[in-house]
Amino acid sequence: MTCVIAGGGPAGAVLGLILARAGVEVTLLEKHADFLRDFRGDTIHPSTLQVLDELGLGEEFHRLPHRKAHQLSLWTDRGTVRLASLRGLPGKYDYIAFVPQWDFLTLITSAAAKLPTFRMLMNAEAYDVIREDGAVRGLRYRDPSGEHEIRAALTVAADGRRSDVRRAAGLTPRELGAPMDVVWFRISRDGTDPDETFLRVSAGGLMVAINRETYWQLAYVIPKGGFDELRAGGIEALRAHVGGLLPYLRPRLGELGGFEDVSVLTVALNRLERWHRPGLLCIGDAAHAMSPVFGVGINLAVQDAVAAANLLAGSLRSGAPIPESTLHLLQRRRMWPTKVTQFAQKVAQDRLIKPALEGRVRPVPTLPDMSGVPVLSGIVRRFIGLGVRPEHVTLPI
Ligand SMILES: Cc1cc2nc3c(=O)[nH]c(=O)nc-3n(C[C@H](O)[C@H](O)[C@H](O)COP(=O)(O)OP(=O)(O)OC[C@H]3O[C@@H](n4cnc5c(N)ncnc54)[C@H](O)[C@@H]3O)c2cc1C
Repeated sequence: MTCVIAGGGPAGAVLGLILARAGVEVTLLEKHADFLRDFRGDTIHPSTLQVLDELGLGEEFHRLPHRKAHQLSLWTDRGTVRLASLRGLPGKYDYIAFVPQWDFLTLITSAAAKLPTFRMLMNAEAYDVIREDGAVRGLRYRDPSGEHEIRAALTVAADGRRSDVRRAAGLTPRELGAPMDVVWFRISRDGTDPDETFLRVSAGGLMVAINRETYWQLAYVIPKGGFDELRAGGIEALRAHVGGLLPYLRPRLGELGGFEDVSVLTVALNRLERWHRPGLLCIGDAAHAMSPVFGVGINLAVQDAVAAANLLAGSLRSGAPIPESTLHLLQRRRMWPTKVTQFAQKVAQDRLIKPALEGRVRPVPTLPDMSGVPVLSGIVRRFIGLGVRPEHVTLPI
């Protein structure tokens, strides 16, 4: 095997598809039996839409049920603040497409599955790396039939923010800190509800409401490690708080029967100083866990994958060993966008989310309508829509 990838999230799936299209033999391992996990973010940004076009998948993607958001709004106690409008963004797309991530991953892996060079193993959990002569030479994984090994010229850790492969390779990220975790649950929609997906910010409360047509996917933000306290307060207290933030939901909050109806997602913001070892590369959240702030982690993961495929496909196809210095080129290319994006997330966490969670009213209601300030809105538009260094598929595929 030429390349084995742990993790069938956005980073691993996109890398697997592009490498397989470029003629590289790839095996992708995913520990879950399907993609139907609610922990997955839903946002596909213009730069990723552009990559989908470059892969010839743009039309198929747009046939998936999706919603388009041309602008991002904060719903505060004093009214709605427009954070950014994506209209005017260079290129074909001026919106974020909200698509359940399982649909996006199914699209990518189904396209890859048509190729003889691609193999996907579901229910396959990587738990260790194979080491030989000081280099990583593949993965050990378990599936329902037992424990197995796959040897490969290149092993990629794309197994997310709690990466097992990264840990097995002895790489530890530096924590930048996140003041919050997220409680995730659903409430049905009805015809009189608002239409758009938005962020609700108030003193003492913060929620994201994602319109998934028949229901709201709701993210209720809690202080880091605060789930036990939330549960101790009882489900009625949670319902009351949610109803205070989003009054239109009050008649349906009975659907939230108990804490068995919610899941808690741990938020991390961290990054590796070194994304590689001989024979091993980390990408996506395994290299740099992204906070949900701005909803750009999927974008960054996809961009890492595109950059890695552009850089490595030629050598992998020829079967030549990949020097660690080449893996370092990938880290150098992607570290800058990672640092800038994480810096912006940290500022938003410290200036907006933390004060809101601590019940400090300011500065939330005094946020300016940034869409009215041309230079600032242009920067925000590009940052959210395209990211810091958008990547393009340069391989002939
Ligand atoms: C609460 C929350 C909400 C978020 N919302 C958004 C959003 O709306 N938009 C956005 O862009 N970003 C969002 N993010 C960030 C985003 O989820 C990540 O940045 C992005 O998913 C990273 O993609 P990835 O492919 O690197 O990792 P992941 O998406 O985490 O995928 C990793 C995959 O590896 C699999 N895996 C894990 N361990 C193993 C193993 N040992 N062996 C095999 N497979 C394994 C997992 O099952 C998973 O499928 C959010 C983050 C959080 C915490």
